[in-house]
Amino acid sequence: MPELPEVETIVRALRKGGRGDVSIVQRRIHSVDLRWARTLASPKIEDFSKRIIGHQITDVTRRGKFIIIHLDEGFILVHLRMSGDLRVTAPPIPAPAPHDRLIITFEDGHGLIFNDPRKFGRVWLTNDPSEVTGNLGPEPFDLTFTPGIFYQNLHRRKKYIKSLLLDQSFVAGLGNIYVDESLFKAGIFPLRLSNTLSIQEANKLLEAIRETLKDGINNNGASIDWVYRGGDYQNKFRVYQQTGKPCQICGSPIERIVAGQRGTHYCPKCQPKGVDK
Ligand SMILES: [Zn+2]
Repeated sequence: MPELPEVETIVRALRKGGRGDVSIVQRRIHSVDLRWARTLASPKIEDFSKRIIGHQITDVTRRGKFIIIHLDEGFILVHLRMSGDLRVTAPPIPAPAPHDRLIITFEDGHGLIFNDPRKFGRVWLTNDPSEVTGNLGPEPFDLTFTPGIFYQNLHRRKKYIKSLLLDQSFVAGLGNIYVDESLFKAGIFPLRLSNTLSIQEANKLLEAIRETLKDGINNNGASIDWVYRGGDYQNKFRVYQQTGKPCQICGSPIERIVAGQRGTHYCPKCQPKGVDK
């Protein structure tokens, strides 16, 4: 599933060009072809088309794992979920591929295609993105999200740290890859209870999350899903899906456990079970 670095990479490409695609900013929408009805969460297709055709895209941003396409009036939000991808095509618009769910054509002949083999991805049109993004937690890079606030939030809960970091209402944008890699970087055992972390550990963990995400973004995300194109971060994994391989720091074999129904990878020596004083 695309996580913050993959979504950010897609957002930057849509905004400025990249991944072999051109920017969609300033293009004006000419037509809409919805090829899988449930892809469009709201409103109904007739209303969606009426409200976006003739309108211009002014910016593309991200909140958590949501892509926010700003129009001169309203916002199109896209959540890629398991397997979604957005690509921009040059004119003429190609014949639809098997998993193309929504095709937006621009007046200049370019197209924006939402492709989603597993059909879990969703698209919304709204005047208020927060109506769709709901109660998302803080953005990891938001500087008002301080180590002190992070520590307080950790201590308000009593959950496995791995599960809590996956909870989008606790912090936005993280998924299985970047949580495992961040916990390794911070030297914290994934099944530690969140309220047992010291202020120093909370500090270290927030820094590790930011560095790991930044590293992911700098490598254009991770291409482990056959649908996500162009990432290199899979070559930088130190624990994620590295079960049995030697830890790059201490040489111990990386282990896999299940935490909150998610496969979790860690180094038993670098991430000891006990509370680190
Ligand atoms: Zn190790």
